[in-house]
Amino acid sequence: MYNSVKHQTLLTAIVAFSLLSIFLTSAAQNPTTQPQTYQVLKINLHAHTTYSDGTYTPTQLVNLYKDQGYDVLAITDHFTTEGYEEAYTEGTRIGLTVIRGEEVTCTWPDGSPKHVIALFTNHSLNIPEDSNTETQEIFDFIHSQNGLGIVAHAWSSWSNWQNYRNELYIDGWEVDYSMAWTLESGSIYMLNHDFHNETWLQGIQSYWTYLLAENKTQTGVQDALMQRRIIIYGNGTLYGSTYALNLYAQNQESIKTPSPAPTTSSPTPNPTSTPTPKTTPTPKQTLTPTTTPPPTFPTSTATPTTTPAATSILQEATYTIAALTIIAIVAIATVLIKTKKKKTNHPP
Ligand SMILES: [Zn+2]
Ligand SMILES: [Zn+2]
Repeated sequence: MYNSVKHQTLLTAIVAFSLLSIFLTSAAQNPTTQPQTYQVLKINLHAHTTYSDGTYTPTQLVNLYKDQGYDVLAITDHFTTEGYEEAYTEGTRIGLTVIRGEEVTCTWPDGSPKHVIALFTNHSLNIPEDSNTETQEIFDFIHSQNGLGIVAHAWSSWSNWQNYRNELYIDGWEVDYSMAWTLESGSIYMLNHDFHNETWLQGIQSYWTYLLAENKTQTGVQDALMQRRIIIYGNGTLYGSTYALNLYAQNQESIKTPSPAPTTSSPTPNPTSTPTPKTTPTPKQTLTPTTTPPPTFPTSTATPTTTPAATSILQEATYTIAALTIIAIVAIATVLIKTKKKKTNHPP
């Protein structure tokens, strides 16, 4: 009688464990556990207003970007964050997320410009114009306000930028053809307009940056940047890290229709040489602030894949559960057989 009860208990345990395994296996394969989907935000994080050398007021600029289908705009005037309040108020009214920023504008010891985009800061860094503030010190100031420091147009204002590629205090880089290495570097990368006046209108319609964000708030934008969920669009092509391109492919259904493709004054043709991320690219020619910055990109970057990222973690979990189930059944069966043998050898 006792052994019968024991066998029943063991059998119940086997059935319960098997059901649990089936449930867990099913859960692991359930679509609801697939990687999170993100909102695809169209952004520009470098723009000037009448608070520095731009010709658009913050209100005009916010409306311009909203009308062009953008979701996020950073106001980055030289030396000041004063234009932010007006831009933020208008952005809130019309549904455009505005980021407070500033273009730190100082110089290298040889007198050439050294520009850094400060994003998400609380107020102006108050670094004087033409000061020779140490590079790391600039980023330390930005980080003291929990901001992000982005090297601005390195091809025109950081003639020695190659020396700074591995500096961990640099959060990110504005990109062009010479900056292809940033895509897989682990740094933040972005393609900005550096908008000043109507000369840049063509650029707004031709190239931009996408973020894959959990939401459209300032926090959502900052998080997406820090997690490198960044895609660049230009020359009719998407560029980004393999990780970001895979995420983008998974989130394509939420992508808005791109702005009209440029029909005239098309972007500068692709360079004929192909940079690779592991070599030091030659800096691109200087972009002068009086002309529309051409979007020049690497030509060898991976194209976005339409294959969703492998769910290898889920598959591993499934295999592990299946293996554990088999081991448990064998172990319990062994115990049952031994118990039965004992019963046979020593009858009451
Ligand atoms: Zn600049
Ligand atoms: Zn600028």
